[in-house]
Amino acid sequence: MPAVRSNIVPLRHARPGVVAYVKSPAEWFVANSGWIQGAEGVALIDTCGTEQATLELLRDVRKYAGEQELTVVITHAHGEHHNGLGVALRDGGSALAAPGSLDQVKAGPQTYGNVFTYTRWGALEPPAPEAVRPVTGRHELDLGGAAVDVVAVPGTAHTAGDLVVHEPRSGTLFTGDLVYIGDTPMAVHGSIPGWLDALHWLQDTFRPRTLVPGHGPVATPGHTAFHAMRVYLEWLLEATTRQSNFAKLAKQASLRWPSWRNPERHIGNLMRAYADQHGRKLDVDLAIDAVLAAAGGRIDLDSLLGSEPARRIS
Ligand SMILES: [Zn+2]
Repeated sequence: MPAVRSNIVPLRHARPGVVAYVKSPAEWFVANSGWIQGAEGVALIDTCGTEQATLELLRDVRKYAGEQELTVVITHAHGEHHNGLGVALRDGGSALAAPGSLDQVKAGPQTYGNVFTYTRWGALEPPAPEAVRPVTGRHELDLGGAAVDVVAVPGTAHTAGDLVVHEPRSGTLFTGDLVYIGDTPMAVHGSIPGWLDALHWLQDTFRPRTLVPGHGPVATPGHTAFHAMRVYLEWLLEATTRQSNFAKLAKQASLRWPSWRNPERHIGNLMRAYADQHGRKLDVDLAIDAVLAAAGGRIDLDSLLGSEPARRIS
C-alpha cells in the first residue's frame, strides 16, 4: 500500500491565494484541507487526523502563505478533519466551528477505537476552549484585502454541524464532507434528506465554479460533483423506500458505483436512509458495526496510511 500523498493544488495565485491540499488516495481517516491567504491573515480549512500529518500541513501553510494570523475553520467534527486543531493552535490563532460541532471540536481528538486500529496518532491535544468560536449563518472573514465567507449549513446534512468556506474571487467552495469524489460518502452521522437539501442550497447560494471536496480530487469548472452526490443520496432513499435487505442493496450500490473507494460504507448509508424516511432512530453503533463487518473487521490504519506522508506540488 503506497503512502498517502498530500498534493498542493494552487487554485488562485494572486492574493487572496487559494490552495487546495488534496490527499490521495482518499482512504479512511484521510481528508483534504486547504488554505486562503490574504495580506494579513490565512484561513486554514481543516486539520488532519494525526499530529505528524498536521505538522506537515502547517509546514506547508507557513512555507507558502507566510506567518500571518491563523484562523482554522473546522468543517465538521469528524476526527480526520479536526484532530489536529490543538496542534495547529500551539503557536496561537483561533478557530471557527458550527454550533452543532462545537462541543466535540473543543473536546479534542477522536480516535474511534471501536473502528480503527492505529499506533501513530502522535501527540494530539484539545484546543484551548476559548480559542474556538461558533459560526451561525454567514460569517465574513477579513484576511486583509479580501474576505471569504464561512457559512454554517442549516440543519443536519453530513453531520449536525457542517461548515463550508466560499472564496468569491476564484468561485471556490470548500465543501467539507458534503461532497466526496471517487470515494464512498459516509452518512451514518447525518441525514440523507437534510444532505440533499444542503446540496441544493449550496448550489443555489454560491453557484461555485470549483469545489474542494472533503475526500477526493478537486472538481474543476464544469464539474458534475453536486449532481453525482445527489444521484447517490436519492438512490439511497429510493432503494430503502420498501426494502430493508441492506446487504443486498449494498451489493447493488457497489455494482452501480464500481470505481468508488471504500464501498463498505454503503451498508451504513442504506441503514441511515431507511431510518430517515421511516421516522426511526438509527442505532449508529449498529450501522458502524455493519460497515466494519463489510470491511472484514476493524480498519487497520497502520497499513492503510503508510509510514511517512509524501508531498507533491501540482
Ligand atoms: Zn466527515
